[in-house]
Amino acid sequence: MLNIGKYLNFSIKVALANLNKLHHPYKIFLVITKSCGSRCLNCHIWREVPTNELGLDEYEKLSINLGKHLSWLNISGGEPTDRDDLIEILKIFIKNCPNLLIVNFTSNGLNQKKLIEAAEYLSNSNIPIIGINISIDGPEKMHIKLRGGEDSYLKAIASLKALRKLKNIKVHASMTLFEANSHLIEETFKEIKGHIPNFRRTQLHLNQSFHSEHYYRNKASSGETPKLQPHIGTKSLLRFLAPMEILKSIYLKNLIKFQKTKKNPIPCSSLTSNVYISEHGDLYTCTIWNQKVGSLRNEEFDLHKIMNTQKAKDLRLDISNNKCINCWSPCEAFPSILDNLLKIHK
Ligand code: SF4
Ligand code: SF4
Repeated sequence: MLNIGKYLNFSIKVALANLNKLHHPYKIFLVITKSCGSRCLNCHIWREVPTNELGLDEYEKLSINLGKHLSWLNISGGEPTDRDDLIEILKIFIKNCPNLLIVNFTSNGLNQKKLIEAAEYLSNSNIPIIGINISIDGPEKMHIKLRGGEDSYLKAIASLKALRKLKNIKVHASMTLFEANSHLIEETFKEIKGHIPNFRRTQLHLNQSFHSEHYYRNKASSGETPKLQPHIGTKSLLRFLAPMEILKSIYLKNLIKFQKTKKNPIPCSSLTSNVYISEHGDLYTCTIWNQKVGSLRNEEFDLHKIMNTQKAKDLRLDISNNKCINCWSPCEAFPSILDNLLKIHK
């Protein structure tokens, strides 16, 4: 769905971020629940019993405060479809944020019915860019080993198939790389293609696993170091034609660099253009570094107010001086790439 005004508005925000003149985040990473039916080895979210998560009235206040500043809503969990009111949450943001250009989330694909209902709602909305990823962490046996559930792989494949029938949605399989599965990228692709014959190599997203205390509930670190081939991305010509493929290519190239240095290869734009908001309305720098900046619940959901506290300013300085955990997590890497286009020469 084309909406020139939203694209133009987003381009201006990215240009301002490149010039260090952006004063409001354009992207939020919004955890709406910690409920999850998967049993991933790398993540302890599923062990949590969700309590006191933000309600619709609170999303109303948050989205009104974000208003025209919000261009990119990255919903997360837990499993987003575990919230019975997922569509209501989406409706609230779409109603109150007129410049909303991108809505994306990743799902384990276990609840196909609820996933397709939410996807159909988005597909018929006025959001120009909708991205839904289904987590597939290897061929069937490896996927089940890493994510639990005897039928989890086939359910994920079925959801992937069903999503691909909808219009206006960019659907990908998303493979998180660990030491255990990083040698299985091509096998994973071939096995998915066995189920979905027209599945393309560019439709398999790759990202590295990271640890985080406040998000995954494991000890924060720069993650495992899966063995990656120098050319782990796609060689498809598409990457030269589609902006998203260019971003993915830059992400993967810098992932190799990150593995060597353990320093984020591009200045991180967390707490500038993008922020993490927990299921309780707590504002954190990002998904990885356990640094709470403030409570939106305590500040009437005024994000701008918390972003301008001395604590936020100090944390921003720490991030720009690489005094954070350092990571190359895709949730933050993509806006960081966009915000540093003037510095990236290739
Ligand atoms: S990684 Fe995602 S799917 Fe797996 S347990 Fe954690 S929240 Fe659930
Ligand atoms: S590099 Fe950015 S995303 Fe990673 S830990 Fe530091 S502030 Fe967070």
